[in-house]
Amino acid sequence: MAVTDGKGPWPALPALPDAATDAVLASGLLPELAHAFGGPFHFLLPEAFDANLRAMHDVLAAAGVDGFVYFAKKANKAAVFVERAAAGGAGVDVASTGELREALGHGVRGEHLVVTGPAKDPGLLRLAVQQGALIAVDALDELDALVTVALTGRVRPARVLLRCLPPAQPHSRFGMTGAELATAVERCVQAGDAVRMEGFSFHLSGYALQPRADLAGHLVELCLKARVQGLEASRISIGGGLPISYTDADSWHTFLTRHHSRYYHAGKAFGTGDFYPYHSPNAGPDALAALLATRPEGHGRPLAELLKDAGVVLLLEPGRALLDRAGATVFRVQGVKDRDGYQLLTVDGTSLSLSEQWFDSEYLPDPYLLSQDATTGPAADAASAAPAGVHPASVGAATCLESDMLTWRKVGFPRRPRTGDLLVYPNTAGYQMDSNESPFHDLPLPPKVVVDRTDRPRPRWRLDRHLT
Ligand SMILES: *Cc1c(COP(=O)(O)O)cnc(C)c1O
Repeated sequence: MAVTDGKGPWPALPALPDAATDAVLASGLLPELAHAFGGPFHFLLPEAFDANLRAMHDVLAAAGVDGFVYFAKKANKAAVFVERAAAGGAGVDVASTGELREALGHGVRGEHLVVTGPAKDPGLLRLAVQQGALIAVDALDELDALVTVALTGRVRPARVLLRCLPPAQPHSRFGMTGAELATAVERCVQAGDAVRMEGFSFHLSGYALQPRADLAGHLVELCLKARVQGLEASRISIGGGLPISYTDADSWHTFLTRHHSRYYHAGKAFGTGDFYPYHSPNAGPDALAALLATRPEGHGRPLAELLKDAGVVLLLEPGRALLDRAGATVFRVQGVKDRDGYQLLTVDGTSLSLSEQWFDSEYLPDPYLLSQDATTGPAADAASAAPAGVHPASVGAATCLESDMLTWRKVGFPRRPRTGDLLVYPNTAGYQMDSNESPFHDLPLPPKVVVDRTDRPRPRWRLDRHLT
């Protein structure tokens, strides 16, 4: 794209090419839906979820590792992803009674649930035991409460994983220290038939592979020790945190090098360390393959071999990585203001539909600009743009908060955005679209539209939940 600020190309973060998203953009469906809903909406591409899940199963099979995938439900509230998890042979990771109910109601068997989260309330523990769900126990008092529930219920034993406080993240509020784990193992032995101790778990912040491999290696050792005490200890859960790539390596590295507050509305200053790593050399299923091939500290062999030799099943709880390319978010431009060298757009929704904005950070992938009357895709739209070059614009919300910006960054659009245009934020299914949504200002929550059969000239759509 053209040089516009005398300092090099305008920083751009184009989404990785995706045939299904392109097909939807080119189909003419989005302006029609924008008209129908009269406000922002999300579209979901469940076929991408299916493909991501299959790819993870393939990686496990290729490595000869016995494993099981749980979809971390908090990453998206749609019903369709839970249905696809159930249909694709995956379980679901839930952390509240509401999530557990949703998972069961959309076809996931109780035995295929893992219940995570700290200090789970007794009602959730009771349901989890009744349904035969695996429960990741976060603290000693929670283990005691669970034993009580299992003893009073007398239906079936509580299936337990013991969650480990990562030694590399000693300030985490989750998990148990080494000493607490030893006590917990002891209490599981004492609990007898009330508890089935199936192994250990962790969930690490960050996306690095080596610390995950190291801790997984450590948990395998803990399993072997616990077996000596007569416990089953046959599986470990490595949580989530498989990174995904939103953009290509070049764009990401150029962006990081050229990062400067002049590219943001109001000179907003983000640190590059505040951003999600929008490109990873190993992403999604490849990250899982790389993890299995990584040698945990203190071991001469890769994690995959360690697991096989110990007869330990690998559980994983990916959220974001299963939702890669599985949805996007559409806003309509309601107004355009000219500022010094850029435009300020106001769209018909809020940054509560783009959750990254609420973590001292910004959702960086470039939104697509679509004409309201577009019947062709973004490429054709860009080609018809009058002056060649870059038209920088930041994106604000239809609210009265100064800080409610969907994009502080001045995105370099291929033409001047106009009132009535649509902005399509790509790849928002993982956390962005709904984890922070709220009917602030009495604005309705954006509906979710499930789109499939994107290989046909006219993709098929329906609402994720039927109106009641
Ligand atoms: C959030 C969470 C996950 C999912 O993490 P991703 O980064 O989306 O893969 C998995 N397990 C636990 C315990 C979590 O809290």
